[in-house]
Amino acid sequence: MRVLISGASIAGPVLAYWLTRRGFDVTVVERAPALRKTGGHAVDLFRPAMNISEQMGVIEEIQARATGTTRMILRRSGARHPVDVDYLKLVSVISDRHVEIMRDDLSQIYYDAGREHVEYLFGDQITAIADDGTVEFAASQSRRYDVVVGADGLHSGVRQLVFGPDAGHSRFLGGYLAVLSVPKSFAHDGEATSFLDPGRWAMVYTADHLDDARAVFLFRPDAPLDYHHRDVDRQRSLLRSVFAGMSPTVDLWLAELDGPGPFYFDSITQLELTSWSRGRVTLVGDAGYCPGPGVGGSTSLAVLGAYVLAGELERAGGDPTAAFAAYEAVMADPVRHSRAFARTVARSLVPRSTLGVRALVGAGWALSVLPSRLTRTIARFNDKGVRLYDVMGYPDYPVPDRLG
Ligand SMILES: Cc1cc2nc3c(=O)[nH]c(=O)nc-3n(C[C@H](O)[C@H](O)[C@H](O)COP(=O)(O)OP(=O)(O)OC[C@H]3O[C@@H](n4cnc5c(N)ncnc54)[C@H](O)[C@@H]3O)c2cc1C
Repeated sequence: MRVLISGASIAGPVLAYWLTRRGFDVTVVERAPALRKTGGHAVDLFRPAMNISEQMGVIEEIQARATGTTRMILRRSGARHPVDVDYLKLVSVISDRHVEIMRDDLSQIYYDAGREHVEYLFGDQITAIADDGTVEFAASQSRRYDVVVGADGLHSGVRQLVFGPDAGHSRFLGGYLAVLSVPKSFAHDGEATSFLDPGRWAMVYTADHLDDARAVFLFRPDAPLDYHHRDVDRQRSLLRSVFAGMSPTVDLWLAELDGPGPFYFDSITQLELTSWSRGRVTLVGDAGYCPGPGVGGSTSLAVLGAYVLAGELERAGGDPTAAFAAYEAVMADPVRHSRAFARTVARSLVPRSTLGVRALVGAGWALSVLPSRLTRTIARFNDKGVRLYDVMGYPDYPVPDRLG
């Protein structure tokens, strides 16, 4: 049975891995000429994604590539002293099993785990999908597939081909996220340094194994910005205009915008599709149910979704109608809860008022000085909030011990 997956980032390689382990014949088509290494912020892997990674045999590699952040220094405009937050303690409130890792590293690890048994077509993309599964590509010859999966992210090409233009499927949550590569000397090992003002948050950090540091910018302007998601020059100039003058240190980071280093920019947008399958086509990860970059557990949800989809396709003997219905039923609650949580985070992460910024910094400080047992007990009452990902349940799909 032949499956075509569009997108080789997180959801695509994880799905490809599990499908080949369950005996499917898998091709992945990726628009970029190679696995994308365009920088990006660290992403979070919570309990379900950690467990699934363990079953894939890659947990040690993932742990070895953790960013290793232990402290967050918060500098609020107008405050005399920065606040020093115990980052490990903050994270332990959210999850008992968690790793923070650079997206590029994680993508490479998942890709390596399955590449031997998967056909990867880089530098190509799907241009049409017929009802009988015949797929046209921009560069390759057309081929027929039994199932086609869009794992091609928030701006999914497969979603647009099958469900039409995005209008009505997405909700802008009011913020933007940008990540810029800066010299490693701009950051201290194990430490994330932040500057906060109403409506904007800039942060820098690095990891032992990185050659650079990453400056991260989160902001909530009064009105949506006017730009195209592939117009990088316009994104750079918008970022500069929002953060210029925040602090001399942040100005130094912004000066790197003129360099050739990797740059990532996206709006914090949530997808609101209620069903993400049609005929023999379905969506996985951000393409189908992105809760919002930077505010939810999009990466954990993508890993979970990929694992569930492969399991349900095998259970249904490859019948897409039965498999997609079961996949959507399993993912409905995780997606619903994670959308609700992401909306809350998007509102509170970058407060628009001075009072809100003070409250946020104060909460970070309080969590890091309260005894761990107390903070964990408080968090345990919050299974639909901060501990959402840790308590997510999903079926166990027996793992065949053969590959391919
Ligand atoms: C370069 C990059 C940097 C990122 N940085 C951050 C970050 O800093 N913070 C954050 O929260 N999230 C970031 N993300 C998003 C994060 O990876 C996802 O939210 C999450 O991991 C879910 O992954 P996904 O595989 O579903 O989608 P994505 O990670 O978005 O991957 C989609 C993949 O599909 C490919 N693709 C897109 N369109 C097509 C097409 N038409 N045909 C074929 N392939 C296509 C893309 O090149 C990409 O490889 C980044 C994504 C990318 C691609």
